[in-house]
Amino acid sequence: MRVLVVGPHPDDQELAMGGTIALLVHAGHQVTLLDVTDGEPTPHGSRETRATEAAAAAAVLGVRRRGAGLVNREVLYSLPARHLLAAIYRELRPDIIFLPYPQDAHPDHQQTTRIAQDARFDAKLTKSDIPGEPFYPPRLIYYFCTHLRLNFPASFCVDVSAVMDVKIKAIRCYESQFARAGPAGEPWAPLDYVCNINRYFGGTIRRPWAEPFHVLEMLGLAGLDDLAI
Ligand SMILES: [Zn+2]
Repeated sequence: MRVLVVGPHPDDQELAMGGTIALLVHAGHQVTLLDVTDGEPTPHGSRETRATEAAAAAAVLGVRRRGAGLVNREVLYSLPARHLLAAIYRELRPDIIFLPYPQDAHPDHQQTTRIAQDARFDAKLTKSDIPGEPFYPPRLIYYFCTHLRLNFPASFCVDVSAVMDVKIKAIRCYESQFARAGPAGEPWAPLDYVCNINRYFGGTIRRPWAEPFHVLEMLGLAGLDDLAI
């Protein structure tokens, strides 16, 4: 399979589904991370630092990574933005597109989801100016990397117990984002938060670690062999 993971900022993909990405790569699937923006500025980062960290995380996971070139903190739903992503879909022709869960406090995340969803429809249109051959990506799956304190309405979980160490290693590449104190000087532990989520959802399927996902469209299973019982 070809898999595209759309992230508003470099690190969103790793935080939400670094384990699932590692599993997909281990299974021989081709995974591309698309960074809609470069994620900067941030309090302790710089464009150069963030790019180096993102490349290191991609190397840990064994994935390709590319940017879409939209501006951090200024992502806006628009026809040009939709067509930009539609052209990327046409080029990469992904079997699965992962994108952020739509409920989020961060406007870049909300806008990215809307753009990425509608670009799916745009990508199939004939008689358009979008580069490439028409293509309709068959499946969208939402990951949870949200700035809201939500109970995630997960549709299914992926057991990432075998690769949780790889996920943590990839997240740790983002030293500028996660190695500092929080806004009030308190120890800031987003990694703990992520681990708690993955522990909790692991418990829901009786496994040590799991990543939750949400689908709107029906999920068809080829068989029941892989169900964690
Ligand atoms: Zn983000």
